[in-house]
Amino acid sequence: RLLCLLEQCLIASPISGGRMMSNTSLSGKVAIVTASTDGIGLAAAQALGKRGAHVVVSSRRQANVDKAVSLLRNENIEVIGTTCNVGNREDRERLVNMAVEQCGGIDILVSNAAVNPFFGNILESTDEVWSKILDVNVKAAFLLTKQVFPHMVKRGGGSVVFVSSVAGYQPMQGLGPYSVSKTALLGLTQALAPELAQSNIRVNCVAPGIIKTRFSAALWQSEEVANEFLKLLSIKRLGMPEDIGGVITFLCSEDASYITGETITVTGGMNCRL
Ligand code: NAP
Repeated sequence: RLLCLLEQCLIASPISGGRMMSNTSLSGKVAIVTASTDGIGLAAAQALGKRGAHVVVSSRRQANVDKAVSLLRNENIEVIGTTCNVGNREDRERLVNMAVEQCGGIDILVSNAAVNPFFGNILESTDEVWSKILDVNVKAAFLLTKQVFPHMVKRGGGSVVFVSSVAGYQPMQGLGPYSVSKTALLGLTQALAPELAQSNIRVNCVAPGIIKTRFSAALWQSEEVANEFLKLLSIKRLGMPEDIGGVITFLCSEDASYITGETITVTGGMNCRL
C-alpha cells in the first residue's frame, strides 16, 4: 500500500530534474572578512569580490590593509579596508560600524583570524597562552557574530563562516592549545546554527589542511617536513589559499542555501574524520 501511495505521489508530482541553474552571484551583498590582508583571508576576500560582493578587508597593520585594498581594487573588486585586531573590542566595533556606514549593511561574515603564540608540550603552555589563543581564535569569532547579527537580521538573513583547521579534528603535535581552539570552532558552528537559522542566517565552517601561507611556513618550508605531510594526502600537493577561498564563497552563496551547522574539510584528502 505504501508503494502504491508513493507511486501515485510520483505521478502527481514527478521529480523533474529541472532545478533552476545555480545563481552564485553575490552582487549587492556586503562581506566582512577578518585577517584578510594575506593568505586564506585575502583569497576569500578576492573570491567573494569576484562574485560581486562588496568586501571589507582588515588586519592589524595599516600597511597590510592598504596593500590588500589596492591589490583588490586593481582587480575591479569593490572593497574598503580598516585595521582590526579581532581580539580588541573597539576594533571589532569600528569594523562593523564601517561596513554598515560605508556599505549599507552586512550579509556575510568570514571569521578567519587566528594566532598561535605557542609550540611545545601542552603541559608547558601557560595561562597567558591559553587566554590569548581562546580570546582571538574563539571568543572574537563569537563576539563578532553577535555584533553582526542585528545587521544581518535587518537584511533578512545572512551567512557566517568560521575558519577552523584539520587540527580541530586531530590535534597536531606541539600545537595543543591552538588545536583545541580550532575544535571549539566546530562546536561554536553547531551551537549557533539552530538559533540563527530562525533569522535566516546560516553558520558554517571550513577546516583547511596544510595551506601554503606565512602562518604555516614551519610545516612546508623544509622540503623534508613538507614531504612527510604529502604522504598523508591523496592529492599530492599542498593547498593554496585559493583552494579555501572558493569553498568559503560557495558556503556564502545561494548554492549552499540548505547547508548550516556544517564543517567542510578542505585537506587534499588528509584523513581526519569519518
Ligand atoms: P597568514 O597567511 O599568515 O595570514 C594571516 C593574516 O591574519 C594576515 O592578514 C595578518 O595580518 C592577520 N592577522 C593576524 N593576527 C590577527 C589578529 N589578531 N586580528 C586580525 N588580523 C590578524 O595566515 P593563514 O594561513 O591564511 O591563516 C588564516 C586562518 O586559516 C587562521 O585561522 C588559521 O588558523 C587557519 N588555517 C590555516 C592553515 C594553513 O595551513 N595555513 C591550516 C588550517 C587553518 P596582520 O599581520 O596585518 O594582522
